[in-house]
Amino acid sequence: MSRFETQRAAKLRQLQQTGPLVAASLCRRDVRCGRPGCRCAQGAKHPSWCLTFKHQGKTRTVHVPRDLIEEVRTWVKEYRRTKQLVAQISEQSVQIIRRYVSAQRAAARVNASR
Ligand SMILES: [Zn+2]
Repeated sequence: MSRFETQRAAKLRQLQQTGPLVAASLCRRDVRCGRPGCRCAQGAKHPSWCLTFKHQGKTRTVHVPRDLIEEVRTWVKEYRRTKQLVAQISEQSVQIIRRYVSAQRAAARVNASR
């Protein structure tokens, strides 16, 4: 196996360990609840979390309840990790093709010079 194939096999093994993920970004919004006399009316707004993601080309948002934030954060992180792995595996596959083609050309040159 070439260097690229060895690296790709290692990345593929990492990809197999993929956990729950979500293709989205977590965002924080500071909101006013609207209750009269609440501290938020004076400016100390409440933090509110949401996920933004693309659906059929459009950006969508979904509110994330406080209880789920930590879990959802790991899903977002897992998505980024997976995305990076996929990009690396893809790059290594391209390198494997390039290497194959240049080896074939080199072999053809050797045969032609005989
Ligand atoms: Zn409030």
